[in-house]
Amino acid sequence: MATFSIRSLGCKVSHVDAHEVRERLLVDGHVERGDDADVAIVNTCCVTHEAVSKSRKEATRAARTHRRVYVTGCGANLAANAFAGLPENVVVVPKRSEETPAFVAGDVGAIGCVQADARLDRVRAFVKVQDGCSFSCNFCVIPLVRGASRSRAADAVLAEIKRRVDQGHREVVLTGINLGCYRDRAAGFDLPRLVRAAGATPGLERLRLSSIEINHVNDALIAALRETPAVTRHLHVPLQSGDDGVLLAMGRRYTVSTYLRRLAPLQEEFNLTSDVIVGFPAEDERAFATTLDTVRTAGLTKVHVFPYSPRPGTVTALDDPVRPQEKKERGARLRSLSHDACLARWRTKIGHDDLVLVDRAGRGYGDDYSPWLVDDAIPVGELVQVRGAGVHDEGVLAA
Ligand code: SF4
Repeated sequence: MATFSIRSLGCKVSHVDAHEVRERLLVDGHVERGDDADVAIVNTCCVTHEAVSKSRKEATRAARTHRRVYVTGCGANLAANAFAGLPENVVVVPKRSEETPAFVAGDVGAIGCVQADARLDRVRAFVKVQDGCSFSCNFCVIPLVRGASRSRAADAVLAEIKRRVDQGHREVVLTGINLGCYRDRAAGFDLPRLVRAAGATPGLERLRLSSIEINHVNDALIAALRETPAVTRHLHVPLQSGDDGVLLAMGRRYTVSTYLRRLAPLQEEFNLTSDVIVGFPAEDERAFATTLDTVRTAGLTKVHVFPYSPRPGTVTALDDPVRPQEKKERGARLRSLSHDACLARWRTKIGHDDLVLVDRAGRGYGDDYSPWLVDDAIPVGELVQVRGAGVHDEGVLAA
């Protein structure tokens, strides 16, 4: 038996990939521990230069305290070897997500037949339904490190959701790199049908999508989201830029008016969140101001802000004219706008009831994925009825 620790950087899909390695090691009889474990798995991210350098630091740190460190995930698949020169006990695993758990488990060595699932988080399960992307946005390294879009069979996805619910998970998040590309042609499933089928899982209380490209927000999907009672009133729709010139330069396949038109039917009901890149090569001050306007008009609340950094192998790899200070200032302005929009949404909850899924002591999320601060005596995993009493910088205060 080996002991292992696992750390994941980056997006929800990276988190799921790390979880798959964890589950495989648990199934093989290994035991999860902290920094004193024999083996560390560092599941890396490469979406920005900063993400790679954080991943590298994490691997270096782990190499000091573990006998062996496996570097997995997107960063490990970068063409320019981002993890060269690390200590000898670091093993870089440049493999697709589907192959990584078996490789790591094989290398660590199985002892077999021990109780798995012992330490799984029972509140929220991220179920990966799709991986890779065939869109090739000009700035994005993901298609290079994860490959083209591919989907899991619907029956495997639905069986996993049932298993997660049986384990006690209250919420399932359908996760993918480009979720709207989900297809199981043999069984006749697309994402809207999968949402309806997943939502019908007996005992499932909440269902969410991790993220969806605006190109895939169509009538069929909107109907599936509205007509599936388990679906929460939250949708994360990456904008990346709110200026048509920048969107074109990014190769994003939509215009601002398309983005706004497709989100309009959801604005009232759904909490809409997004990702925006600031300081893209084609973004000048005017284009950035247009982006701020678009964020306001779209009614977005939480915006994850990413300062642009060129990624190796992409169309814009050699292009980075916006000064770091300028990116920083634009990022701060956008974050401030987003924070104000969150506060405004949270204020509407004062005096109203909501159902909060407590996922950490004293914290949880309401039906539209707004964060709530609740009594920290409420057990993690409880779904509790609360009433908004006020607003704090980090969420709605429950009475
Ligand atoms: S849609 Fe664009 S930004 Fe998103 S993963 Fe695919 S290529 Fe990257």
